[in-house]
Amino acid sequence: MATLKLLSYHLQVIQAHAERTYPEECCGLLLGELRGDIKILVDVLPTENSWDAQAATFQAIEGSAQLESSKRRRFSIAPTVMLKAQKDARDRNLNIIGIYHSHPDHPAIPSEFDRAIAWQQYSYIIVSVQEGKAIDLKSWSLDDEHQFQPEEIFTASSSAD
Ligand SMILES: [Zn+2]
Repeated sequence: MATLKLLSYHLQVIQAHAERTYPEECCGLLLGELRGDIKILVDVLPTENSWDAQAATFQAIEGSAQLESSKRRRFSIAPTVMLKAQKDARDRNLNIIGIYHSHPDHPAIPSEFDRAIAWQQYSYIIVSVQEGKAIDLKSWSLDDEHQFQPEEIFTASSSAD
């Protein structure tokens, strides 16, 4: 099983973001280092959910199934934001190692849509928010069959651990 190593502070940032945007989905980028099977999270970069601006792009994936395509059920990170984050990460000798987003009033389990747009090697942290409170957080990554498998989250209280 892949492992994602992070600090408890990172979880607080992600959970706070998820609670703030409820009942819409929040999203953001995970910057860090890859060391074999272990990903080390260094920085969390909250981004805007730009689903509304990019919904048309995803129509190709979803066909006409646009019934639930709102920010309550979907997230998207703008390509310009992604490019800037990639550059910033490189400048700091880091990589984008994953993406986090929230599931308002749904479990922290990837949706079929999440799977369809997921990239190999990324960690996908999902926060479940029930009635405005972050109650669960899980990390997932794709296997060779493009199916999500749970990742182990190793939480340290400081980077010295
Ligand atoms: Zn999702």
